[in-house]
Amino acid sequence: MPRLRFALIASLVASTLAFAETAPTHIAPVDVATAIKLRDQAMNDGTAYAIVAGLSTEIGPRLAGGVNDQRARDWVAARFKALGFDKVTSEPVKFPRWVRDSEHAEILAPYPQKLAVLALGGSVGTPKGGVSADVVAFKTLDELKAASAAQLKDKIAYIGFHMAASKDGHTYGEAVGARVVGASVAASFGAKAIVIRSIGSDNERLPHTGVMQYDTKIARIPAAAISNSDADLLEHMLTLGKPVRLNLALDCGTQGEYTGANVIGEITGSEHPEEVIVIGGHLDSWDPGTGAIDDGAGVAITMAAAHLIGQLPQRPKRTIRVVAFANEEAGMYGANAYAEAHKNEVAKHLIGSESDFGAGRIWRLSAQVKPEALGAIDQIMQVLAPLDVQRGGDHAHGGDFGAMGAQGMAILDLGQDGTDYFNWHHTANDTMDKIDPKALAQNVAVYATYAYMAAQAIGDFGSKPGAFASAKEQE
Ligand SMILES: [Zn+2]
Repeated sequence: MPRLRFALIASLVASTLAFAETAPTHIAPVDVATAIKLRDQAMNDGTAYAIVAGLSTEIGPRLAGGVNDQRARDWVAARFKALGFDKVTSEPVKFPRWVRDSEHAEILAPYPQKLAVLALGGSVGTPKGGVSADVVAFKTLDELKAASAAQLKDKIAYIGFHMAASKDGHTYGEAVGARVVGASVAASFGAKAIVIRSIGSDNERLPHTGVMQYDTKIARIPAAAISNSDADLLEHMLTLGKPVRLNLALDCGTQGEYTGANVIGEITGSEHPEEVIVIGGHLDSWDPGTGAIDDGAGVAITMAAAHLIGQLPQRPKRTIRVVAFANEEAGMYGANAYAEAHKNEVAKHLIGSESDFGAGRIWRLSAQVKPEALGAIDQIMQVLAPLDVQRGGDHAHGGDFGAMGAQGMAILDLGQDGTDYFNWHHTANDTMDKIDPKALAQNVAVYATYAYMAAQAIGDFGSKPGAFASAKEQE
């Protein structure tokens, strides 16, 4: 009989353990009530606006590795401390330092005109005086890919694809390839340079910069974007049937390596300080504007959300960590450094979300979590519903936390309304006046609500090394 009893107990223990592992994650009513108060308080809180106004005004453009890189990090670290964060640290991030000095583009013939132009980030410069050649135009990147050396040898390639606006930003994905890989495609046919229509949904005479990448096996040619208005002008001139000769002069290039840093602030958890909810944005920006919407807003939203949680009478059970990422713009260097530094802590990263799509209202929540955590997501959704947030899908990308997601961290994407975002993105128009304080506060309310509820959740969201692998395959 003792043997039978032992077997019975053993099977009871095993089934209890199995239950513990698959028990649905949920949030206690008392924590839901606190989240509702946080939400309502955040809707009337000006902390995020003050942060992004301060960052835009006191620092301004934050080109990675540029003169403001260290100043911006010092500024954010000081702000974390002033806002009562328990711990402020930084983690080094190395990357090539790209420098922009000047750029100039003009049509030389048949009708001379100056064009508003910006070098693309990462581009090599031209020889002094620039390169001058006839323009060969393509409507799309695919059309350029189908070109020939006979067409492009010693010419300047031009891609004229005009991206449309969209609420979820999917049209950016359709357009951005021309900027990222266009130079190497054109160079493979012997082109001397590439000029593209700006990747933007506006019709302003302000060019949009942004990163480009060279294929290491192909010669590096200068790459620049002209404003949408100038693209219209150039295209109209091309319809007149005479060769259009362009001069492009770029003084820019990569100068050695720079060591920046991710700046991290924490509201330390009271029960499980080693378990973290990670939120954040990227601190670097392109240089023509003041980096208010890309991504001062994301840094401000997440700092303000964590600050509000830190103002509660009691610390949350788990730690709320805010990461102000280094150099996202040139290729997610900060994100990759973070994922490398924390690769052995995937399971301790309960869930993560980055804000990097401007300052428009959040309208959709997509959750990449284990099935047993979907009930907790429903609870979060119930608190967010009055803020007009809808439930999106079960796959999430995570932005700068995507590299952690690829290692198995659960992710929540809080999709913002980006209908206007690409009118200003990466231009001199990325400035404070584009931010609606009420929409910004709604973002803070969503982040504060969600981060608090996740920090208090009974159970986890499925983060563990290798989790969500099938989701990656579907992307
Ligand atoms: Zn960004």
